[in-house]
Amino acid sequence: MNPMITEHKTDVASNRTIGSLKGQQEGPLVVLLTGMHGNEYIGVQAVEEVLGILKETDGLARGEVLAIRANLTALKHKVRYIDEDMNRIWFPSIIKKIRSTPEESLSSTERVEVKGLLRILDQVEIQHDSSATIMVDIHTFSAEGSMFTLPDQDPGQIDLLSEIYAPMVLGIGRSLHGTALKYYQKRGLFSFGLEGGQHENSMTKQNIIASVMLLLRAVGCIDSGEYRPDMMEDFQKHLKSQTHHLPVRTELVYQHLIEEGDQFKMRPGYKNFQPVKEGQWLASDRNGRIVAQCDGYVLMPLYQRQGREGFFIIKEQDDMQSS
Ligand SMILES: [Zn+2]
Repeated sequence: MNPMITEHKTDVASNRTIGSLKGQQEGPLVVLLTGMHGNEYIGVQAVEEVLGILKETDGLARGEVLAIRANLTALKHKVRYIDEDMNRIWFPSIIKKIRSTPEESLSSTERVEVKGLLRILDQVEIQHDSSATIMVDIHTFSAEGSMFTLPDQDPGQIDLLSEIYAPMVLGIGRSLHGTALKYYQKRGLFSFGLEGGQHENSMTKQNIIASVMLLLRAVGCIDSGEYRPDMMEDFQKHLKSQTHHLPVRTELVYQHLIEEGDQFKMRPGYKNFQPVKEGQWLASDRNGRIVAQCDGYVLMPLYQRQGREGFFIIKEQDDMQSS
């Protein structure tokens, strides 16, 4: 038993764990991490439904699914964060400090949340072979437009994610510093981001449910072919219908970072994967107009108050290789 699991084990585990399921046979552990941002509670609801479906249909043949809520306080208040962005503090030095500081002396709500989350994720790392663990970091975003995934450069991961039928955006994981995803990728855990859709769009929950179910099938937790073929086909159709017109693989070429006091304001009407031309007026701040630095597609234009990335510009990957 890890000495770090102490007196808080029971209440933390009961609040933070959405649920876990185990199949009859050996197989991978799939960790579904939700609510790193508290306004992204649709991800929590989607994962609750996935567990419900699997329980009801006795669907998990192999391995294990563990679903977790990350930022409990922000989820309660339905805000991105309380004191600081929980998904920008996963630097080894900060994590070390969080581990060694008693909860009551930590400097922010989010650091307390990270400490609580680590109690669970440390156990995952201790008890499971990292090569048989898959972590999905589930988010939603403020703009309209399609869902997508954020894989790392691992070819195995790109192959696996092609089973989800969502556009893959490479390079954003690397460009964002202090994310849990990057932290665990560096520790050798097979992990990727799932951006399920607009925060409160009615499609978003279904996107996440469908993606997670297809992922579970792709990694063998669900029997392919035998398990509810009609339902799985519907999930596949649902995702394909929304993403078939979009580039399969794109790569980050530009990101606009917002600094304190910038008064950043995205111009209305931009959505994910909307084509933009170099020089196009995308946003304004106290310094004036912000225009696109290059041709491409706009991604995650920011239409909420909290957040430091104003927008990203991505390009189709084949374009980049041939030019
Ligand atoms: Zn998020």
